[in-house]
Amino acid sequence: MKNTRKYKKRRLFITMASLVVILVAVVIYVEGRLRVDTELPPVAEEPVKEEPVGEVPDIEKPVDEVPDDSKDNENPAEEPQQEPSAPEDVNIVKDPAATDALVNKKNNLSSTYVPEDLVKLEGIPTVLENPEINQLREPAYIALKDLFQAAADEEGYELHARSGYRSYGTQKDLYNSYVKNHGQAAADKYSAKPGQSEHQTGLAMDITCAAMNFQLDDTFGDTDEGKWVSENAHRFGFIVRYPKDKEDITGYFYEPWHIRYLGVELATKVYESGLTLEEYLESN
Ligand SMILES: [Zn+2]
Repeated sequence: MKNTRKYKKRRLFITMASLVVILVAVVIYVEGRLRVDTELPPVAEEPVKEEPVGEVPDIEKPVDEVPDDSKDNENPAEEPQQEPSAPEDVNIVKDPAATDALVNKKNNLSSTYVPEDLVKLEGIPTVLENPEINQLREPAYIALKDLFQAAADEEGYELHARSGYRSYGTQKDLYNSYVKNHGQAAADKYSAKPGQSEHQTGLAMDITCAAMNFQLDDTFGDTDEGKWVSENAHRFGFIVRYPKDKEDITGYFYEPWHIRYLGVELATKVYESGLTLEEYLESN
């Protein structure tokens, strides 16, 4: 009797223990299934936010800047050989040597256009060693020299020429290097594609001064030198080509350092109109 009770107790214990084991196993299995189930449907990812239109990426060098060949282009073979995306709705400038030639993202220079009257910038302060960019077409060079001289004589300002003529090939390298460093979208927004830079005309110059540490950025417009240039450049045949808040018209953000030679008559008319070159040529 005692033995039977003991046996019954043991059976009961074994049964209970088995039930517990089974129960635990079931719980583990169900939980496992549940976990697998919840992992199965891919969790919807947060939508990728578009970069705000006005935001300027962290730019190490201004878009307009040309690397100093002697330092930056040591391994040109490593540059990506990417062709700029096919231009849409683009005209080729018919008379690229005309002083009033309009060059922008819609009116491009031919890849073979090289001005015939490029001259070295002599007798004016320059910043970089690169011989290509220390050139302008002769009339623009003479006018720039006069502009710099007037800044010195009238106000005691010493202006420096940083980047003048730029070949199609140089602009292509510049654009590709921008793509490499900042991505295609940023490059299309902030860098001129080859054929779209006014520097290829030999009539555009980027200028700076000691207060800017001879760099280019839009604070040049706040310096005494920059203010003087914006108010006086037309007297020598230049305009500040990319004014503030006109990027929807010119295709470029504010560049107080970039001046374009148009000759005294046209530059004065454009200056006095308060219009961009695009608007002025359209309405005259
Ligand atoms: Zn420029």
